[in-house]
Amino acid sequence: MGCNWTIQCLYWLPIYFHSVGSKSCDNICNLNIEPNQISSVSLQLFINNEWQDAVSKRSFPTINPATGEVICQVAEADKADVDKAVKAAREAFRFGSPWRRMDASDRGLLLSRLADAIERDTAYLAVSDAVPFLILECLLSVCVCMCVHRYYAGWADKWEGKTIPIDGDFFCYTRHEPIGVCGQIIPWNFPLLMQAWKLGPALATGNTVVMKVAEQTPLTALYVASLIKEVGFPPGVVNILPGMGPSAGSAIASHMDVDKVAFTGSTEVGHLIQQASGSSNLKKVTLELGGKSPNIIMSDANMAEAVEQSHFALFFNQGQCCCAGSRTYVQDTIYDEFMERSVERAKSRVVGDPFNMKTEQGPQVTNTEQFKKILGYISSGKREGAKLMCGGGVAADRGYFIQPTIFGDVQDGMTIAREEIFGPVMQILKFKTLEEVVERANDTKYGLAAAVFTKDIDKAHYISSGLRAGTVWINCYDVFGVQAPFGGYKYSGNGRELGEYGLDNYTEVKTVTIKVPQKNS
Ligand code: NAP
Ligand code: MG
Repeated sequence: MGCNWTIQCLYWLPIYFHSVGSKSCDNICNLNIEPNQISSVSLQLFINNEWQDAVSKRSFPTINPATGEVICQVAEADKADVDKAVKAAREAFRFGSPWRRMDASDRGLLLSRLADAIERDTAYLAVSDAVPFLILECLLSVCVCMCVHRYYAGWADKWEGKTIPIDGDFFCYTRHEPIGVCGQIIPWNFPLLMQAWKLGPALATGNTVVMKVAEQTPLTALYVASLIKEVGFPPGVVNILPGMGPSAGSAIASHMDVDKVAFTGSTEVGHLIQQASGSSNLKKVTLELGGKSPNIIMSDANMAEAVEQSHFALFFNQGQCCCAGSRTYVQDTIYDEFMERSVERAKSRVVGDPFNMKTEQGPQVTNTEQFKKILGYISSGKREGAKLMCGGGVAADRGYFIQPTIFGDVQDGMTIAREEIFGPVMQILKFKTLEEVVERANDTKYGLAAAVFTKDIDKAHYISSGLRAGTVWINCYDVFGVQAPFGGYKYSGNGRELGEYGLDNYTEVKTVTIKVPQKNS
């Protein structure tokens, strides 16, 4: 099978393929993927390189959102299991342990081997990941996940301190040391990616990890755990716990022997994580939270590109994207044409079986509450006076499918313009001037991402310097490079993931000062 089908199928694939390199692209396109390969992954907790039942013996179901059927039962960690995992991670971090004594270059080698194992098992991982997502997008997730581990493998022996010319007869230098036991809590919307973004920098810098994966998407994380063991990470370095947020997640956040917690998820839970740190051991906290990202279309933009990219910015991953372009600001002179073309594009979006390569939109994640929440937002849009341009309802009689939906005439104060919907619902707003749109774009509690479409470089610079967001895309959307940092301003979080900046999140800086006698005595 060649690559052309993929490249034609979704606009953004070439961008990802470009970022991951042609070798990986060829390998992936030549795989023979069977939709029902999900089978032998271990469904227990992964603690100290062993598969274990939960202390409580409890388990919970993993559900296929395309059908609503139960796929399997997975062990459910709670506080007692977190205690066991933290103990294992602490032991693995003990001074003099194999992990602490390992050369940095060997840590890099292990990460590199992990990337190789992921590449070898691409088909299996993509198919497992695709339980709630599109197979095509999951192939890319595997690809990017591999790249993240390769990238951080390279950093392991290059994360250097400095020598510092302090006053007096002293030699002063800094060491970049691991923080210790890191709790990591990840969401369901990009299970493989979120796991890689967290594990890569933590392991490259020599930390140990206790990770709670989201209840809806535990399967790929557990499979990666088996690869971690296979490639030779010492016991206790990585521990993977499926479980619920209020029990397992909160036990990590408030644990007295966890040195740092890295969380990706909603702003609401981010608050709880920060509070738990404050009321326990003041562990370091990094947060990657929600967003309501503005996407600004100036009247001089390339119309076809702006329509397609804005469509992608919102509908990618069923709209379940923290940085979704969920407030599309369009300049008044092109508003009508942009709207007409966007509606046409949304109506042509292929909704259906996530395992069909032609499908552009699958079901929402398996969560009745989330499904109802999205439909609730659609009702609120209608109620508050926005104009429903297309969609607005359920797209199939079973499973969690929602029609691609567009609202026009949206006002800044409406609920759909202020809150994160996390579904396939696009808000289009009208603006007149550049100054006005910057002010309105910033009038949100969030600050994760933003985009500008214009042919005028001066406008692009003016707007991007005025926007209060961690990432600004110009004439593109959702372009991620593993080398470039990502994170939020304001309620969208603190700290940066990816790139060299991502290493700071997992490092303590130690200053060592040595007296240097000036004379031989
Ligand atoms: P969520 O409800 O905040 O959950 C995220 C993770 O936290 C899950 O593993 C969850 O466990 C756990 N959790 C829930 N309550 C907890 C508690 N009291 N203590 C500790 N952990 C707890 O978010 P979500 O619904 O999974 O994901 C969607 C949200 O994530 C959106 O707001 C999105 O914007 C954000 N997100 C941000 C980024 C970014 O990089 N900024 C990336 C992806 C997603 P359960 O498994 O029980 O739910
Ligand atoms: Mg949740």
